Amino acid sequence: MSTDKGLDLSIRSVTKHFGQLQVLKGIDLEIEPGEFVAIVGRSGCGKSTLLRLIAGLEEPTDGEILIDNQKINGVHKEIRVLFQDARLLPWKKVLDNVRIGVRSGSIEIAREALQEVGLADRAEAWPSVLSGGQKQRVALARALAGKPKLLLLDEPLGALDALTRIKMQSLIEKLWREQKFTSLLVTHDVTEAVTLADRIIMIEEGRVALDLRVPLPRPRERNSHFLQLEKVIL
Ligand code: ADP
Ligand code: MG
Repeated sequence: MSTDKGLDLSIRSVTKHFGQLQVLKGIDLEIEPGEFVAIVGRSGCGKSTLLRLIAGLEEPTDGEILIDNQKINGVHKEIRVLFQDARLLPWKKVLDNVRIGVRSGSIEIAREALQEVGLADRAEAWPSVLSGGQKQRVALARALAGKPKLLLLDEPLGALDALTRIKMQSLIEKLWREQKFTSLLVTHDVTEAVTLADRIIMIEEGRVALDLRVPLPRPRERNSHFLQLEKVIL
């Protein structure tokens, strides 16, 4: 059931074919409201395909996906996706890019979201002058501005340098903790999966090969130590 904690997600016998290619061969998953789940697996194993199905951007060949017990039907207003590339509109300033994500169009909500990712001072900047990490933070603000109850993250940090990646991991973790949306993170970085997620799912040959709970205490606490270290070093 839905709570203010996030959406629950039920994936039942989902298959996906592209012509002769059978990418997903029967995926069954139950994801609880507020869980932080990482999906790992080799390149080409179908991680992005699964995320696109959940996002309602594509339909399964067979099986069904339920969000709070309702079969999904196209794009769900409480689900947002963050991709590897920020996909900002170059002809709109930062704040206007974030505003695209706000359901009511409120500029105040856009400002708050930009504040949450620490970029309030770049509201009037053009996307082209931002670093890769800053662009991803703007994309994250745009996603959060929609007040999602399920955030889908498709290798969002894959293109960033190691230090920026750790900072972004901390930011995502903090926002998830505060806002309590359900998170589904696709990554091929197993360390990232272990750092951030409560639960790790591995896809292999179109099926769930592994479904692990990360025991407490979680390694994510290490990130805060790292950030203290970084303050001293940089
Ligand atoms: P991953 O994200 O795990 O790297 P993808 O889900 O992107 O993998 O792709 C899984 C497989 O499906 C790949 O072999 C890819 O080439 C194929 N594929 C993905 N999307 C399409 C599509 N729209 N049409 C045809 N083949 C596709
Ligand atoms: Mg992918």
